[in-house]
Amino acid sequence: MTPPPSSSAAPTTDGSPASTARSAELFARASGVIPGGVNSPVRAFSAVGGTPRFITSAQGCRMTDADGTTYIDLISSWGPMILGHAHPTVVEAVQRAATTGLSFGAPTEAEIELAEEIIGRVAPVERVRLVNSGTEATMSAVRLARGFTGRTKIIKFAGCYHGHVDALLADAGSGVATLGLPTSPGVTGAQAADTIVVPYNDLAAVEAAFAENPDTIACVITEAAAGNMGAIAPGPGFNAGLKELTARNGALLIVDEVMTGFRVSPSGWFGIDGVAGDLYTFGKVMSGGLPAAAFGGRADIMGHLAPAGPVYQAGTLSGNPVAVAAGLATLRTADAAVYAALDANSHRLGDLITGALDAAGVGHRVQYAANMVSVFFTSTPEVAITDYAAVKSSETWRFAPFFHALLARGVYPPPSAFEAWFVSAALDEDAFGVLADAMPAAAAAAAAATSGEELH
Ligand SMILES: *Cc1c(COP(=O)(O)O)cnc(C)c1O
Repeated sequence: MTPPPSSSAAPTTDGSPASTARSAELFARASGVIPGGVNSPVRAFSAVGGTPRFITSAQGCRMTDADGTTYIDLISSWGPMILGHAHPTVVEAVQRAATTGLSFGAPTEAEIELAEEIIGRVAPVERVRLVNSGTEATMSAVRLARGFTGRTKIIKFAGCYHGHVDALLADAGSGVATLGLPTSPGVTGAQAADTIVVPYNDLAAVEAAFAENPDTIACVITEAAAGNMGAIAPGPGFNAGLKELTARNGALLIVDEVMTGFRVSPSGWFGIDGVAGDLYTFGKVMSGGLPAAAFGGRADIMGHLAPAGPVYQAGTLSGNPVAVAAGLATLRTADAAVYAALDANSHRLGDLITGALDAAGVGHRVQYAANMVSVFFTSTPEVAITDYAAVKSSETWRFAPFFHALLARGVYPPPSAFEAWFVSAALDEDAFGVLADAMPAAAAAAAAATSGEELH
């Protein structure tokens, strides 16, 4: 792929070229020892081209790269950093926990506190097991659903991403969408065959899948609100319909709140629509930027997990005391003012995007799923984007020039048209000033884009 011309330009507030020499040097070195130079694909800028910025530090809503350039961060580590980076309360909790031991391989009281914190917020969750990543949470929840029901097949939605679990990679969003992969080599035919993929927001398709596979479907897994193909909220009654269809057919509903959990409200998407899933998965915000995640749900189902029951699940570092401390500090510090700031900041960002694109005459939709926000370029802006097919047929080729114009002006948006933008509560007036100054040039770049510029 050919990087766009702006790729050699480093951010300065006026968009003029500055050095990315150190990041380029690090990327070359990384590529010699790490596949593709990164430890998670989207970080490589494959869909937008150019030099991935190597980050040296972050504070509040700002990240600084290896060339000394500072950016307004609009990805928040893909969700977790709702308080902003290096929040003093979280840093202090992590330091205190580290001082008393990094890992014991034995239970601690803090794990109970984190479990109680989650159970106290999300009513359908009666028991919680801590794990190390969102992937592990969804993998374990699916295994438990199969073990509990004695059934094999699962239903997922096109464009929903649930981590890189073999059975859940079919038609997944996030990096899988960014790289244009239908699924992944290495996933066996048997694993793929047990996964039924249907369009998001399409209850009739779910009903048909149940009708075609009587008594064989263990669970439906859905993002509480889709955020990995851009932000797409569930339509009215969609989640409730899934609850009704799974209950009627003897299957479980797994609500994946790894992205929405404790970001969109103190009790996640459950706090918004109140639909009770049978099992839930959490990650990202609940561990405050350290590696921890969780799955939980009805006590009778969770009781099937080892050592209480026969479904095996374990982890050397699960419930790690430092990660648990970061999670507890983050959840307890995120008060009503923090959630109000997240909501206000996401709408202020969306308004800036839409104002600039309207002024430049670029057809688009800014869509929200609560305080997650995305921009979709489209020639039919009056039509809501409700599923993955619509996302894929949008004008994604306008995204790379839009992205690079922002990056060159000190704004760091997600480097893919298929991702949501994540604000933090730490965005300040100065940050919004940088965003407002950067948007017109980014809108002009999107307006000037032609479809041949698509990089994948
Ligand atoms: C990020 C994400 C995951 C995967 O979590 P990891 O910690 O990256 O493994 C799963 N589900 C959803 C909805 C996510 O957004």
